[in-house]
Amino acid sequence: MRTRLDHLVSSALQYGSAVPAFTCYDFTTALAVVGAAEEAGRGVILLVAPKTAATRDGLRLIAALRGLADAALVPVAVQLDHASDLKVMADAVASGADSVLADGSALPFEDNIALVREARTLLGADVVIEAELGGLAGDEDRAFGVEPGPVAGMTDSAQVEEFVSRTGAELLAVAVGNVHGRYKGEPQLRWDLLQDIAVQTHVPLVLHGASGIPADELAKAASMNVGKVNFNTELRTGVLATLQDQLQEHRADGENLQGLLRHWSDSAQAFVKTALGLLAR
Ligand SMILES: [Zn+2]
Repeated sequence: MRTRLDHLVSSALQYGSAVPAFTCYDFTTALAVVGAAEEAGRGVILLVAPKTAATRDGLRLIAALRGLADAALVPVAVQLDHASDLKVMADAVASGADSVLADGSALPFEDNIALVREARTLLGADVVIEAELGGLAGDEDRAFGVEPGPVAGMTDSAQVEEFVSRTGAELLAVAVGNVHGRYKGEPQLRWDLLQDIAVQTHVPLVLHGASGIPADELAKAASMNVGKVNFNTELRTGVLATLQDQLQEHRADGENLQGLLRHWSDSAQAFVKTALGLLAR
């Protein structure tokens, strides 16, 4: 059943957990994410990358994901991830996304606020808006090893309260040492900073780049009001490794595309189950 993203997140936080969100570049992966969520009896968020939403086929994918969310036996929300283009946001919502990350994190503070407010005016009150304060290192759609650090620009906790109240965002993505892509070495989250941020606002916080962060740290983050956790890198890595393993065999086996897709789906489901286990209640 399609569910408002903020409702999904607040009910997970009541149980001391967070909702996992997975980037879906295709429908096979999305089916696997929802299938694994149904098996576990847990809600999930389907994320669509802005590059996907900028194409006609991508908008059709969003419409398909909305249909999948409607048909799901567990709560599912569809969110446009990391968008800074208002037209892409409007198109994604018109195609069926019920939430957007209006990402002005690369902009100066006032411009970031202005972007989120424009998004609200354009999209209306029913669309759940996530905003981002502080820049995340790494590329969302690639998986280079990334070192978190000052380059990225951590969230300034002193700006949080003003940012949230002036933007009216329902969720806030933060940069506290988390990165997009693969961590160089062990992830080093800045717990002191996360705690400082958490006391500044009541809106749920979002941790992007969760691939590689261990379960105990995700639980600790949830105790500090982190209610949504985005995964991308490990899901892709797992699917690609599986396809590489299986490709020759399925080519030899009568060009068995259906069989290959089943391995794709199994690999994605296995990762989603792992992620749901990391965020266990
Ligand atoms: Zn992200």
